[in-house]
Amino acid sequence: MASAMDTPVQYLKGVGPRRAELYHKLGIDTVRQLLWHFPRSYVNFGDCAEIASTEGDQFCSIRAAVVRKSGEQRIRKGLSIFKVLVADDTGELTLIFYNTKYTAEALSIGEEYYFYGRIGGSGLRREMNTPQVFTLAEAERGALSPVYPLTAGLTSRIVAANIAQALELTAGELTDFLPGEIRLEYQLCELEFALCQIHRPKDAASAEIAKRRLIFDEFLILALALSSIRGKRSVEAGYRMEGTDFSPFFDSLPFTPTGAQRRAIGQSCQDMRRDAPMNRLVQGDVGSGKTLVAAACCWYVWKNGFQSAMMAPTEILAMQHLDTLQKLLSPFGMRVEVLTASLPAAAKRKVRERLASGEIDLLVGTHAILSNGVEFRNLALVVTDEQHRFGVAQRVSLAQKGNQPHVLVMSATPIPRTLALMVYGDLDLSVIDELPPGRQPVLTYRVGSDKRERAYAFVRKHLDMGLQGYVVCPLIEQGEVDMGLKPAAQYAEELAAGPFSGYRVGLLHGRMKQAEKDRIMAEFKEGTLQLLVSTTVIEVGVDVPNAVIMMIENAERFGMSQLHQLRGRVGRGTQQSYCILLSDAKNPEARQRLGMMCKTGNGFEIAEFDLKLRGPGDFLGYRQHGLPQLAIADMAKDVGLLESAQRAAREILERQPDMSGYPLLREQVQRIVKNVGEQIN
Ligand code: ADP
Ligand code: MG
Repeated sequence: MASAMDTPVQYLKGVGPRRAELYHKLGIDTVRQLLWHFPRSYVNFGDCAEIASTEGDQFCSIRAAVVRKSGEQRIRKGLSIFKVLVADDTGELTLIFYNTKYTAEALSIGEEYYFYGRIGGSGLRREMNTPQVFTLAEAERGALSPVYPLTAGLTSRIVAANIAQALELTAGELTDFLPGEIRLEYQLCELEFALCQIHRPKDAASAEIAKRRLIFDEFLILALALSSIRGKRSVEAGYRMEGTDFSPFFDSLPFTPTGAQRRAIGQSCQDMRRDAPMNRLVQGDVGSGKTLVAAACCWYVWKNGFQSAMMAPTEILAMQHLDTLQKLLSPFGMRVEVLTASLPAAAKRKVRERLASGEIDLLVGTHAILSNGVEFRNLALVVTDEQHRFGVAQRVSLAQKGNQPHVLVMSATPIPRTLALMVYGDLDLSVIDELPPGRQPVLTYRVGSDKRERAYAFVRKHLDMGLQGYVVCPLIEQGEVDMGLKPAAQYAEELAAGPFSGYRVGLLHGRMKQAEKDRIMAEFKEGTLQLLVSTTVIEVGVDVPNAVIMMIENAERFGMSQLHQLRGRVGRGTQQSYCILLSDAKNPEARQRLGMMCKTGNGFEIAEFDLKLRGPGDFLGYRQHGLPQLAIADMAKDVGLLESAQRAAREILERQPDMSGYPLLREQVQRIVKNVGEQIN
């Protein structure tokens, strides 16, 4: 019955083995996958721009004739460009085709076409990068032409024709997997209508109706899959807390907690007084003081006579937390200890024994805490810091640990609320939207390597004032050394011998022994070292307020949230701090990302921007955990539908936890669950 849907695309009329190979590159092998390959947008040819009136950075369609074609230019291995000059009555524009010479070669000089794409270049030298091309006949057939995500050798026109074939082949066979009552309740159109109209819309309104249904589907299936992965949230908390007077804790602090910190603490403690276990995410930008919230919660749990654990993603960070938490909590008599992988076996055993007998009140560590053989006497609270490093898999093993502990997750990467909702579903959220008083924003600049010497001089000036700085290098693969990229160790040596000779330069990288790392970190904290050259091991949480300047090499190689984390290492004291992003990147997206970093210090803005630019792939190791890329839904924009889909998912599961009445829907959900399962095991 499902045969037509599962037909390989190769057998569609007009496809064949060679084109099937191109589809394969897009992840499309079957008719079903082809039908679910949605247009990215539509071109409305009734609404063309005149070349002279186009503006940079905007998508538009133009109608123009081909004036001149350049031959193929090979920029470097794997990258060639092909330029075509076109003109209308008002002006000229250069089309630039990257690795798509097929399309360019098919254009005839003197002929008119419609082109759709983003305008680049400037003023008199306008460009359009890799435009979509439509002949006059194609364009005038329908008012709205779909624009598809493509690969070299395919055009939107070809894809549209193949999809038309696929729709014909499957007509009458598209069984709707959405339960009828859900469709009615949420006012969604039928599947067949949606697929026909998304690909060949009658008008803009029909395309919108189709899109709404397909976005809903995507969110619903993902929500059902995630809730199946998370498993059922236990209704009974293992440990219930009683209220307590917080003034001794607050009075003991060297500073006054911010309103946002107090609120997050209040919300968390209230959660722990309920019957159900807490499952709360504390989101706060770097430097917003999340550690204090964790400390307060652990203190509260200790007052109630139970144990807590706090997990950090790296040993350096675990040691720093140990230090901070001991300072805050041991004056009350709380016993705070650490367990990491590099602890000698005998010491580990000792910690385990004391943990089991209840002689440790708060255990700090890396995810070694989750390993088998670590037993707590009465673990009531697990705090995980810097959540983005822990994925779905760790959360599952955490939930299986202990007797339904309360869970508090601290995220410094401000995950957009929509994404948090999606991944955690029933997670409660506290946002620390207030920085401790007196913080100044970090001034950030992007500079090319031609200004390298000036950047070094700027760093030296700060070191001369008794301040400290970081130089961060990306991780270099062996093969890249040949391309002139330097491993951190070599770079550190060159700096110490050259621009920073006479200064105390230290090196920190991931492959060093733990003891060595600890020593270097301690020397930097004390001020013995002035400049720390490192890979991203300092990314999270390291707190040295006297460090006020950071230089990031090959900044384009880092993700935005990673850059934001790195930059958060400076600007922790009262001094004006700086971040210098060294980059010669030409790629427009990379430049946009770095430009945004210079413009804002607000982690939420950065996260939202990154989400728009790249999709959710890189948050929380989302893709790494086998979760699908969203084909049509946009987490940043479609919040309303996301919430509806989540409500629908809950309704479906309440009605029928095993979804046996909805076999088609279950099949879709299982496909995702299986992928994720393969990543976990
Ligand atoms: P993050 O949210 O990045 O984990 P931390 O908890 O490391 O931030 O706090 C950053 C710095 O701010 C620390 O040095 C901490 O002692 C300090 N701090 C935290 N809360 C306050 C506050 N309310 N007032 C002043 N300083 C604070
Ligand atoms: Mg922190």
